Amino acid sequence: MGPFHLLIDGKLEAGDSEMSVLNPANEEVLSSCPRASMAQLDKAVAAAKRAFPAWSATSMDVRRKALLDMADAIQGDAPNLARLLTQEQGKPIGDATGEVYGCAAFFRYFSSLDLPEKIVEDSAARRVVSRRRPLGVVAAIVPWNFPLILMAFKVPAAILAGNTVILKPAATTPLSTLRIAELVKDILPPGVLNVISDANDLGAAITAHPDIRKVSFTGSTETGKKVMAGAAEALKRITLELGGNDAAIVLEGSDPKETAPKIFAGAFQNSGQVCIAIKRAYVHESIYDAMCEELAKLADAAVMGDGLQQGVTLGPLQNKTQFEKVLGLIEDARTDGKIIAGGNRTEGKGYFIRPTIVRDITDGSRLVDEEQFGPVLPVIKIKDGEDALSRANASSYGLGGSIWSKDLEAAMDLAGRMDTGTVWINKHAELAPNIPFGGAKLSGIGNELGEEGLAEFTQMHVINMAKA
Ligand code: NAD
Repeated sequence: MGPFHLLIDGKLEAGDSEMSVLNPANEEVLSSCPRASMAQLDKAVAAAKRAFPAWSATSMDVRRKALLDMADAIQGDAPNLARLLTQEQGKPIGDATGEVYGCAAFFRYFSSLDLPEKIVEDSAARRVVSRRRPLGVVAAIVPWNFPLILMAFKVPAAILAGNTVILKPAATTPLSTLRIAELVKDILPPGVLNVISDANDLGAAITAHPDIRKVSFTGSTETGKKVMAGAAEALKRITLELGGNDAAIVLEGSDPKETAPKIFAGAFQNSGQVCIAIKRAYVHESIYDAMCEELAKLADAAVMGDGLQQGVTLGPLQNKTQFEKVLGLIEDARTDGKIIAGGNRTEGKGYFIRPTIVRDITDGSRLVDEEQFGPVLPVIKIKDGEDALSRANASSYGLGGSIWSKDLEAAMDLAGRMDTGTVWINKHAELAPNIPFGGAKLSGIGNELGEEGLAEFTQMHVINMAKA
C-alpha cells in the first residue's frame, strides 16, 4: 500500500515527518502517511496564491472540463479507492464503493452549473449588473466519517468558481484523499489543488492563515466554534457543517414493520457515524412496543465485522476516541433506559459496538440530548406529534429531522415547524448534489451543494452604471 504523498504546487512530496494510520477493524497499522509541517502548509498556501490569478481568469468551460476529468480519474480507480476507504474508515466495501461513485458524481454535478451575470436593473436611470467572483485561496477541512463525499461537497464547487484550494482530510482517514491527489495531480495547473495531511494539528493555522480567504469546514460543533473564532480577525468567509441530533417523529397510524427498517437504516448507516443520522426516535405510544421490537430484531440481525468481508452490514467505529465516547453513553443509558438489543462491544480487536436499541428512555438522558455519533438509538414514547416536535426543537442542534406518517398533511404541518436545515417526510438522510444542505442553530452556518453551495465560494460583485 502507498507510498502516499502530499500534493503541493502540482508535485507529490513527502511530509516533513511521517505518521501511522490504523485500520479500525483490527487496530493494526494500515500504512504510514505523510504529516505536513507548518512550513509545508505555508508552501501550499503560497502555491495556491500564485496559481489564483491565472486560474480565476480561465473560462468556465476550462474548469468544467477539469472537474469532468477529475470525476473520470476518481471513478476509474473506484475499486482501489473503495478498498482503501474501507480499510481506513471501517465502512463495508459496498458502502465505500457507493461513496467513491458518489464523489465522482458530485464532481460531475458541479461541472453542470454556471455562474451567470444577472441584470438587477436596466432602467432609464441606471444599469446594474451583479456577478459572482471567486474569493482566492480557500480551505476545505473534512472529518473522518465520509472523507470522500464530504470533500466532494467542497472541492468541485470551489474550483468551478475559480478559487484555488488547500484540502485537509482528518488525521485518521487521510489515505483515500491522498490517493485522489495522486490521481488528479496533472489535471489541474500546479497550485490549484493542494492536499496536505496533518496529525490533527494544522487546522488552527489554516483557519488563521492570512492568505486564506475562506474556510469551508465540516466537523464537530466544538471545533466549528474554534474555526469561527479563528476566522474573525481577517473576517474570513466561513461555511460550517457541524454536528446534529436529528429526531425522527413517528406518528400514530404508521406501520412498524414497514417503517422500522427505514428508521434503522437512517440511524445505523456507517455505524451511526453520520451527521444526519437519526439520533433519537420519538414514537407514538400506540405503536411504541411494536416499533421497539422491530428495531431490536433488525439490530440483532445486523452483521458486524471487517468491512472487507462479504456480507458485513456494519463496520467498526472509526477511532478509539469515538468508540470510548459511545461506550460511555451506553453505560449511562443502562440506568436511564432499557437496552433491548446490543449494549456491548465485541470480543477481540477492533472498535466494534453491537447496534444498540434503548427503550423506556426520555429527554434529559445524555443519550437523548447529546450527539452519540455511533450505533446506538434511543426510542422515546410520545403522546402526539406536538409533544414530539417541541422536544425535537428543544435541542440546541438543528441539522435534520424527519416525520413519519400516512397522513401527509399532518406530516407537512409538523415539518414546516421543525427548526432544522432539512426535514424529510417518510425518509431520512437523503442528500443529493443539487439539493442545498445546511444546519440551523449549533449545526452550522451557510449551505453546501446546489447553486447555493456554489455561491458560497464566491464574492458578490455589483457594477452600477449611471445612464444619461
Ligand atoms: P472534528 O471537528 O474533530 O474534526 C474535523 C476536522 O477539523 C478534521 O480534519 C480536524 O483535523 C480539523 N480540525 C481540528 N482542529 C481544528 C481547528 N482548531 N481548526 C480547524 N480545523 C480543525 O470532527 P470529527 O470528530 O472529525 O467529525 C465528527 C463530527 O463532524 C460530528 O459532530 C458530526 O456530526 C460532524 N459532521 C457534520 C457534517 C455536516 O455536514 N453537518 C457531516 C459530517 C460530520
